[in-house]
Amino acid sequence: MTETLADLAGLTREFSAHNYHPLPVIAATASGVWVTDVAGRRYLDMLAGYSALNFGHRHPRLVAAARRQLDRVTLMSRAFDHDQFGPFCAELAELAGMDMVLPMNTGAEAVETAIKVARKWGYEVRGVPDGQAVIVVFDGNFHGRTTTIVSFSSDPDAKNGFGPYTPGFVSVRYGDMPALKSVFAAYGPRIVAVLIEPVQGEAGVIVPPPGFLAGVRELCTSAGALMIADEIQSGLGRAGATFACSLEGVEPDAYLLGKALGGGIVPVSAMVSTRPVLGVLRPGQHGSTFGGNPLACAVGREVIAMLRTGEYQARSAELGARFHARLRALPSSVVSSVRGRGLWAGVSFRSLDGRAVCERLLSLGVLAKETHGTTIRLAPPLVITEDELDWALERFTEAVLTG
Ligand SMILES: *Cc1c(COP(=O)(O)O)cnc(C)c1O
Repeated sequence: MTETLADLAGLTREFSAHNYHPLPVIAATASGVWVTDVAGRRYLDMLAGYSALNFGHRHPRLVAAARRQLDRVTLMSRAFDHDQFGPFCAELAELAGMDMVLPMNTGAEAVETAIKVARKWGYEVRGVPDGQAVIVVFDGNFHGRTTTIVSFSSDPDAKNGFGPYTPGFVSVRYGDMPALKSVFAAYGPRIVAVLIEPVQGEAGVIVPPPGFLAGVRELCTSAGALMIADEIQSGLGRAGATFACSLEGVEPDAYLLGKALGGGIVPVSAMVSTRPVLGVLRPGQHGSTFGGNPLACAVGREVIAMLRTGEYQARSAELGARFHARLRALPSSVVSSVRGRGLWAGVSFRSLDGRAVCERLLSLGVLAKETHGTTIRLAPPLVITEDELDWALERFTEAVLTG
């Protein structure tokens, strides 16, 4: 290490675009739930890469899978097949109980894929007049950062200044079934899909009212629209199940996956759906240079194998119960609400500033990030032990009560 801490911070400040406002820590190494900074200080990671690190930093099984593949073949492009591709798609389809997979890289690309596929399916299968398709989304959504996706964001920071916006989206209050029904009544057969986060992550880990997801499912089925579940953050163990939809007994027509699918090593995302839906794509109509590359597929296959054991989902559900009980015990004079599922919680404060709490947490050795003003999202790696979780919760309590 030749650069000093101040040098490194200076380089970031001067040479990187200021599209993030990082907390003052510079990571050097990490293992499991722990991150060590360039000064040798250790932190427990309670953000886990926004759930990209569900299996912790550098899980030995995932690192080994990546190393094996690095010595075989790393990139082909989909112009040619490779021996990791078919198995990855088959194994992911099986995990999801679906027919087919379209691999991409980032979450936003999986969402873009779903938007394109739903529109094309609407025109070719449902007979919607060309250019008339409507996709229903929800206020407070977060689906990524492309121009089309920010076109239907309700967050002014994410949206403003990036127009002109892509038309064809209608937004409804999250959890509001009467509002959703009236949108279906107004737009009728033009609605090709409902795009929904089964739990809204970036909005502050918002869980919809009981029965809402089942209601969305019913409405989509009766109207002949696709229910597309964006499980990029909620899926793959985070909520205490492979898919958060299943906690409500709901099966969507498509899952969008990302984040943890890449094992915290490489970006891997996918749209997973049925044959009639993904079958609308023919050669040349959609693609990605890096989507489905050998390294991504090898790591993704190991992630799927780990999820097939059910161990991580069970840990999330069991430790999650302890986690939520402890968070709900915080004084209601300070905390206004605690929401979430599994090892995933949104904690809102009556008046504390989320950023200030995160800065106190950092000084106590815990990495966490506020979502909006007075809300913090806590989402430790699912490999966290009970003792480590208790340790983090003690620090969290201290940071909250000394504010
Ligand atoms: C993070 C996220 C995305 C976007 O993923 P990127 O990999 O950052 O493009 C989309 N949907 C949800 C629900 C997310 O949490």
